[in-house]
Amino acid sequence: MKYHSTNNPSHQVDLKEAILRSLPPDNGLYMPNTLPSLGADFWSSYRGLSFQEIGFAVATAFFGEDVPEENLRSIVEGTLTFDAPVVTLSPGDHILELFHGPTLAFKDFGARFMARLMAHLTRGEDRQLTVLVATSGDTGGAVASAFHNVPGTRVIILYPKGKVSGLQEKQLTALGGNITALEIEGTFDDCQALVKNAFLERDVAERMNLTSANSINLSRLVPQSFYYIHSARQLAENVKPVFVVPSGNFGNLTAGLLAKQLGLPVGHFLAATNSNDVVPAYLETGTYTPRPSVATISNAMDVGSPSNFVRMAALFGNSWESMKSSISGMSFSDEQTRTAIREVKSIHGYEVCPHTAVGWLAAKQWHATHPGSATITLATAHPAKFPDVMDAELGAGTVEIPERLAILADKEKVATTLPKDWQSFRDWLAGNIG
Ligand SMILES: *Cc1c(COP(=O)(O)O)cnc(C)c1O
Repeated sequence: MKYHSTNNPSHQVDLKEAILRSLPPDNGLYMPNTLPSLGADFWSSYRGLSFQEIGFAVATAFFGEDVPEENLRSIVEGTLTFDAPVVTLSPGDHILELFHGPTLAFKDFGARFMARLMAHLTRGEDRQLTVLVATSGDTGGAVASAFHNVPGTRVIILYPKGKVSGLQEKQLTALGGNITALEIEGTFDDCQALVKNAFLERDVAERMNLTSANSINLSRLVPQSFYYIHSARQLAENVKPVFVVPSGNFGNLTAGLLAKQLGLPVGHFLAATNSNDVVPAYLETGTYTPRPSVATISNAMDVGSPSNFVRMAALFGNSWESMKSSISGMSFSDEQTRTAIREVKSIHGYEVCPHTAVGWLAAKQWHATHPGSATITLATAHPAKFPDVMDAELGAGTVEIPERLAILADKEKVATTLPKDWQSFRDWLAGNIG
């Protein structure tokens, strides 16, 4: 399969280049030349398949021409070592728990698949691969965990100083070994811009053998479509789910669109955001206006210039009308989010993280005008990752802390602080990467 740039359909590369280069030189994003669909055979039997079997079928549709079957199977099986169960709060109000992986957020799916696919694509090479990643909270931890101790790789994580939770920060900064954390004096958008810059300066990217682990990387999106299909089959037959996606960079929602393209029956998508509402505003007005992000309690969604927007637009042939017919946008304030956390707990005895709470609010609003519909709200992280907010709303000690998170509390943070300008980052790279 060939891949092209969203900015230039005639710029075409193979899988290895699309994954390892991450970003076309013209600053677009890579898209597969043909969007695969799964045949009638798959859709007549998918309800009986396991999570791994679904993952393998989807991965084959995208990468089967380029990666041998046995390798693809082991990449999928190595990725999906934990489940994504659906929990029903009340009839039609479902939650898809995506936080059962090693770093307790959905980012584990994409990061684990990407690490394994990259290892496959670079097997037998002796150059060290340097993985650059900007994080608003959870990506960095998932990528660090997925690449930790993988031979021949080094991971550089950029995160906005003071804008990630204490436990998130420990996940980025306490692993050591081949993982390096840079604390940037700026916002997530500044971190993301630095990463983009490093790729656009071709000589830097080539010399350092850089690759990106952000959701601009297609290999993170494909595995995220696995759980859309896996969750839909957990509902009653012939129910067309409405997927509610708490969104920041819109990688997760884009993965849902890929699942629909593969043939999954989907009722609708809800793009749920905090006050960083660039996409809901676009869906409302038809005008796309990226702007600086503002800090909220759902910090992993504090994105003012969502990197996957161009991919979403491309999937709808750049038509606002067409996007609007499949996706509705809704945004909620921190105050509403806090109230929702208390409400879900008091009504359903269930604990949602601030990001999932934003999704639940969107689902609630949808149900008010669409009685009888079935929503699946993606629970993007485990509430224990956000102890400050959860303790404030539910009382200290209410949320049980999973063992793999609890052990981080005693680990030491190791990070280098850098200003947010390109020159400083460039100098740091030159001094620290071969
Ligand atoms: C990354 C993240 C999001 C946003 O996902 P996108 O794919 O960037 O839209 C939402 N919630 C949590 C907990 C996250 O870590």
